Amino acid sequence: MKYIAGKILTDKGFKKGYVKVSMNKIIEMSFGSCPKTPDLRGLITPSFVNMHTHLGDAFISQKNINLPHDIMKLVAPPDGLKHQLLKKSTDDEIIKGMKKAIQTMISDGTSCFFDFRENGEHGINLIKTALEHFPIESFILSRPKELQVDENEILRLLNISEGIGLSSISDWEFEDVEQIASMTKKRKKIFSIHVSERIREDINKIVKLQPDYIIHMTKASKKDLLLIKKENIPIVVCPQSNTFFNMFPPLELMKNIGNIILLGTDNAMINPPKIIDEINHIKNITPNVFNNEDLLEMITYIPRKVLNLNDYMQDAKFLSSNYMILDERTLQPIVNELVGSEII
Ligand SMILES: [Zn+2]
Repeated sequence: MKYIAGKILTDKGFKKGYVKVSMNKIIEMSFGSCPKTPDLRGLITPSFVNMHTHLGDAFISQKNINLPHDIMKLVAPPDGLKHQLLKKSTDDEIIKGMKKAIQTMISDGTSCFFDFRENGEHGINLIKTALEHFPIESFILSRPKELQVDENEILRLLNISEGIGLSSISDWEFEDVEQIASMTKKRKKIFSIHVSERIREDINKIVKLQPDYIIHMTKASKKDLLLIKKENIPIVVCPQSNTFFNMFPPLELMKNIGNIILLGTDNAMINPPKIIDEINHIKNITPNVFNNEDLLEMITYIPRKVLNLNDYMQDAKFLSSNYMILDERTLQPIVNELVGSEII
């Protein structure tokens, strides 16, 4: 039996407390002073939610290619380098990359993720194969194979995935996006889309789509962010990916406006899907804007609340082992030898 004392992240911020660990499992969690001299100290947080991944391109990170720091050249459909490499790759290669990325997420303390899955039904089947036997909750947001609407295809996609995640309104005829969004909402599935990443896009059109959440908003104006706040639409920011393309999300403005901010790691070919790295990156690019508490809430309680997730919440409140122990200074997971294998 070991005691780990420190601060426990609750939905109302940090509270002093401790956990008792036995046989690699947290068996008790209490607030207040630790009854014994603790074996370790750290931050005790629920497991993480990564709100935006593209695991399908993880295999590209193994290829040692010098990726262009230009969105159009790298990721824009249909001809960006990523899409060319996807066309040339085998299913096995893509699945192997996904499995490695899923393993990275689990080791990092992520228990739930939302993936934008390219390549229609086949793309969904690939990630489902990769996910077999992994103890992680996944939300697969699919998209049509081509940049056009085929109602039957959309219905089939909605039957076998959690919803639709599109590239951006700039890649599509707006009427088509409207139709896809409405079909998705009608079936009570999730609709999401990248917004104002490379160029500022018409926010009124986005609001019309009633997305469950939107990605990026790097080029959004204050007016855009105010409207998104009014409409209560969560924004998923992916600062490491933005930095790769030499862009920066207006995080301070979002905070001041009171936008709901969630975090995602974006393309797995650019950086591994380690959500804690996004937090450390935000602290580097916008020092003194957010504290650890604000940032950790963005990957634990806030996504669970706004998306009504009950992944780890299903467990008995304090007997769940879905908790991480982090080093307060580096925010990196510690005591993997104690709880790591039982995180999920
Ligand atoms: Zn993305």
